[in-house]
Amino acid sequence: MRVCILGATGSGKGTQGRLLCQALEIPMISTGEILRQAIDQGSELGDQVRTFVEQGELVPDETMIALIRDRLEQGDVERGWLMDGYPRTAFQAEELDFLLEQLDQRLDRAIWLEVSEAQLVSRSLERSRSDDQPEVVRRRIQVFHERTRPILEYYEMKRRLLRINGEQSPEQVHQDIHQGLGI
Ligand code: AMP
Repeated sequence: MRVCILGATGSGKGTQGRLLCQALEIPMISTGEILRQAIDQGSELGDQVRTFVEQGELVPDETMIALIRDRLEQGDVERGWLMDGYPRTAFQAEELDFLLEQLDQRLDRAIWLEVSEAQLVSRSLERSRSDDQPEVVRRRIQVFHERTRPILEYYEMKRRLLRINGEQSPEQVHQDIHQGLGI
């Protein structure tokens, strides 16, 4: 199965993504984790993206599209994959479809974890990641509304969107995702 999880910062997409990957035995492609790791390692990619990530801004589409293309060319993704935090813009979503077509693959479902803004802020502030400072968290939520929400319409139009109430307990969210995917 090939799925992506969409949701603002603090929506639980990382947690739910990991659970789903275990259940489906597929690798998780978390663009946020790949970028944070590159920053920690001080690699060329890390230097290139550091300012964007630290300020809660999106890394330019060209960089992200190249990163995803490289990742999907690795051998472990043949049986399926789950993307956490990708795509994040309408352009990324369209380019992902083009790329998958070239690879003879297809995205099965886009899962949207719907969580209110108040919950998003309080959940993110409970974590201790370096990009979880209050003003950065607020900026990331604003960026989600401006740049990522339009993708939801794109996937809805293509009848691939699975809306999940992300305000429920993690167990219930997990159960709803399984039911929605028919697994
Ligand atoms: P996340 O862990 O998914 O919340 O991502 C952390 C940060 O990485 C974001 O605030 C962005 O700066 C960057 N990032 C992650 N995924 C993407 C993406 N698909 N497009 C652009 N920037 C991204």
